[in-house]
Amino acid sequence: MLKTRRRIIFFLFEGAEHLSSEKIGFEESLKSHVVDAGKCAGCAACVVSCPFFCLEYSDGKPKLIKECESCGICLRVCPRYQWNTQEMEKHVFGRQHSGNEPFGVFRRVVLARAVDEEILERCQDGGLVSALLAFALEHNVIEAAVVSGVSSEKPFHPVPRLATTREQILECSGTRYTYSPNMLALQEAAKQKKKAVAFVGTPCQIQALRKMEAARLKKYVAPIKFAIGLMCTESFTYEGLIEEHIKNRLGISPEQIKKMNIKGKIIVETLSGEEKIIPLKEAKAYTRQGCHHCRDFSSELADISAGGLGLTNWTFAVIRTEKGEKIFESAEKNGAITTKPVDKEGKAWRLLHLLSSKKRGVK
Ligand SMILES: Cc1cc2nc3c(=O)[nH]c(=O)nc-3n(C[C@H](O)[C@H](O)[C@H](O)COP(=O)(O)OP(=O)(O)OC[C@H]3O[C@@H](n4cnc5c(N)ncnc54)[C@H](O)[C@@H]3O)c2cc1C
Ligand code: SF4
Ligand code: SF4
Ligand code: SF4
Repeated sequence: MLKTRRRIIFFLFEGAEHLSSEKIGFEESLKSHVVDAGKCAGCAACVVSCPFFCLEYSDGKPKLIKECESCGICLRVCPRYQWNTQEMEKHVFGRQHSGNEPFGVFRRVVLARAVDEEILERCQDGGLVSALLAFALEHNVIEAAVVSGVSSEKPFHPVPRLATTREQILECSGTRYTYSPNMLALQEAAKQKKKAVAFVGTPCQIQALRKMEAARLKKYVAPIKFAIGLMCTESFTYEGLIEEHIKNRLGISPEQIKKMNIKGKIIVETLSGEEKIIPLKEAKAYTRQGCHHCRDFSSELADISAGGLGLTNWTFAVIRTEKGEKIFESAEKNGAITTKPVDKEGKAWRLLHLLSSKKRGVK
């Protein structure tokens, strides 16, 4: 029995040999210390990593659907279980962040914008994320991108997507401020045996991805060419923000939402050209429970981090790794993106410091 169990793990997770001696199961680890404790980020890393398919993603959380084999893999990939920033920084960068890097290790900070008018039309801020993905696809750096699109059944509800064409990347541009477990699209990439994939996700998802990498779950991490992390203060429940507030209180049908952006307040733009404001203080009531336990604002472990930081039509980019630098510079040299220096006295720079420190709990 034990041999069969090990064989299943080795077959599904080449390189995960070192995990098989672990005897802790889901219920005494993630269920009791993360999910029931209200700390679950909802990233779905545990669900996709279970080699015995014991977990289902249900209501934004993992749910045990058959007897756990206590292999210990799910707890190795969870960003909310035994998280160690120093260890993970060493894994990604070979060193810890210094006192001069309050938003994590980085090589370059710069403002960036897509050059393509179609991307600029559909994107959230400067379209850097979509421009990099479209560029990487066009130049055969990747064959697919893990992103988040919009549900065809529930308006403005984000759903994980595996984009394989430029049109699909563009369809997924823009931000939905409710949660999208993009890891489920990475599972789809593995199913389709994609060999070169870019991953876009929130900081909690980038943390999970790095833990999967450290746990050597090659099936998922080997194809990753680069990971773009979005900056993130919080995400909201769909029921609260979209249904209770926008639909019931503001009287805007979710089908009518064209775009939402957060610039000190939530700005809801409708298809008919109306603009409604939701004060951030009011929206806080809809913050997902797991977000209250989050310590990473700027996706500190991503290859490239991207955020709006109050800017208009520019994306604030933090380039952190060699991989990130390579794809960014290549897109820049080929004219897919344009850049300008960050004003180090400016509001965006100060906001990045402030929000990063606030999330880390540093006064
Ligand atoms: C939940 C959430 C909260 C955020 N909070 C902040 C913040 O507080 N401060 C800040 O500066 N920036 C925040 N951002 C990032 C910001 O909204 C932009 O995504 C970022 O500036 C990149 O802009 P862009 O024009 O380059 O991206 P685009 O080219 O428009 O591409 C955006 C990418 O994000 C993906 N995406 C959209 N919604 C989601 C989602 N819910 N989950 C995962 N991926 C998604 C899309 O698939 C697309 O690939 C947040 C993003 C999210 C998803
Ligand atoms: S990965 Fe699956 S089998 Fe292994 S401990 Fe977690 S739930 Fe149980
Ligand atoms: S944070 Fe992610 S990995 Fe951890 S229990 Fe929640 S969904 Fe699973
Ligand atoms: S605040 Fe953002 S990064 Fe943190 S758990 Fe929530 S969605 Fe994930």
